[in-house]
Amino acid sequence: MTSSADERLMRRALILAARAARQGDVPVGAVVVRDGVIVGRGYNRREQRQDATEHAEMMALRQASRRLGSWRLDDCDLYVTLEPCVMCAGAIIQARIRSLVYGAQDPKAGACVSIANLADLAHNHAVAVKGGVLAQESRVLLLDFFRKRRASDRADGSKAQRRRRALSQVPQQANPEQAAPK
Ligand SMILES: [Zn+2]
Repeated sequence: MTSSADERLMRRALILAARAARQGDVPVGAVVVRDGVIVGRGYNRREQRQDATEHAEMMALRQASRRLGSWRLDDCDLYVTLEPCVMCAGAIIQARIRSLVYGAQDPKAGACVSIANLADLAHNHAVAVKGGVLAQESRVLLLDFFRKRRASDRADGSKAQRRRRALSQVPQQANPEQAAPK
């Protein structure tokens, strides 16, 4: 695919990443594409859903499989704004994704080049991988998100203080005598 087509699809993933940030999640967005048409959309919803598996790629893969009626997505390409983690790299391989295009590298958790190499994980299915597409845009979204979160942490006090405050706001148990039916 030409680089301008890659950039056009990565911009769609970036829009989804911005949605994650608005909902309080680390901004990562993904799209699954087949014949130039988006068949799956995803954004990180880990906080929103309190589910460690709700990464952008997982949501986009699930949506694509539902829409196409197949777990096998070997004629599909996945675009994601951040280098996939080990879980998502595994799912990408399991789904037989044809090619993976990502934006920024994730030095702490990325499983394409950073902490693991996707080619080593994909033993019997080769995924074409291309990184660095609109990486700067993706990085700016992430840095902006963490900068704002640090600022609001400072305004709110530490995480421990916030937790104590939240706990103190939990309603006291109703007096069982008052609560008991007459
Ligand atoms: Zn992931």
